[in-house]
This record gives sequence, C-alpha cells and structure tokens, in this order.
Amino acid sequence: MAEVRAYIGLGSNLLNPLMQVSQAQQALASLAGCREVTHSQLYRSDPVGPPGQPDYINAVTRLETHLAPEALLDRLQAIEQAHNRVRGERWGPRTLDLDLLLYGDCVIDTPRLKVPHPHMGERSFVLYPLAELAPNLVLPNGSPLQALLARCPMGTLQRLGV
Ligand code: ATP
Ligand code: MG
Ligand code: MG
Repeated sequence: MAEVRAYIGLGSNLLNPLMQVSQAQQALASLAGCREVTHSQLYRSDPVGPPGQPDYINAVTRLETHLAPEALLDRLQAIEQAHNRVRGERWGPRTLDLDLLLYGDCVIDTPRLKVPHPHMGERSFVLYPLAELAPNLVLPNGSPLQALLARCPMGTLQRLGV
C-alpha cells in the first residue's frame, strides 16, 4: 500500500498527563509501518465535557504510514489500552486519548471511524498544534487550516514550549 500522511491528536488529563503524552509520542515513533514521525510541542488546555476534571495536556503527531486507516486506529487503541484507558462517561477524564485527525485526503464515515475527526475544526487544542506541523494544510473539504484557526481563538490554550 502507498504511503499516506496522517495526523494523530493526543490528549491526557489523568495520572501525570505530561508523562502519558510523552510516552504515547514514543509509542507512535516506534509503530511498525510508520516513519517520519514528528511531534508538535505540548499544550495545556481546559477540560471539555463534565465539570471538575483536571486540565489536559494535548499535542499532535504527524506520520507517514503504510497502514490502512482501520489498522492505524487499531494501533492507536492498543496504545490507549496500554495506558489503561477506561471508557467511562462521554468526554470524561482519561489517561490517554489518541484520535485519528486526518488520513491523507480520505473522507471516512463508518460507525468505528470518522475522518477527518468530526470535532477537529472547532478545537483549539487540535488546530494550534496541527498548525505547527502543517501551517499550509487544506482539509479534504477544501477548508484551509488557517481559515479554521481564524475562527478559533487560542483562548486559554497554552503552548508549554516543550
Ligand atoms: P471525541 O471523538 O469527541 O474526541 P473521544 O476521543 O473521547 O471523543 P473515544 O471514547 O476516544 O472518544 O472514542 C469513541 C469511539 O470513537 C471509538 O470507539 C472509535 O471507534 C470512534 N472513532 C470514530 N472516529 C474516530 C477517529 N477519527 N479517531 C479515533 N476514534 C474514532
Ligand atoms: Mg478525543
Ligand atoms: Mg478518542
């Protein structure tokens, strides 16, 4: 299979989120069938979803992969499981969330996998780290990333500089 450029969104707000995200970055860097794995800096964001959760650490990773999208999702979910991800209430706190944001120019809409990730366009903690890696990116629907950024202020999102 030809290589495709994919982007992964990382997030954690439990059990030392900085460690969770940096270990996940290492796991992504050593995935079989993937190369040129490049990480954004780390960001801190306010929690979305149920109130009273700790802050999040977020980042985005870019890679070139021979894996089909469902196979890549399998690998991402295996890494989540290795971080003891427990699925509780929707958008509840988690040790690690790995979302497939983009897979080349593919549009995928199955019960298990929706790409581009349905909420990425309105999430500052996705758009800003993504822009570090791909400032001139254009989404499959023709929207330039810069246009999405213009409608999505950085707000309280903080770039941690690491
Ligand atoms: P959100 O998707 O709003 O960021 P979440 O990441 O907390 O929420 P999860 O509990 O991680 O949601 O995933 C729920 C389901 O979403 C998974 O079982 C997975 O099959 C499905 N899913 C659909 N599209 C994607 C995608 N692009 N990346 C990751 N999971 C996806
Ligand atoms: Mg998510
Ligand atoms: Mg997820």
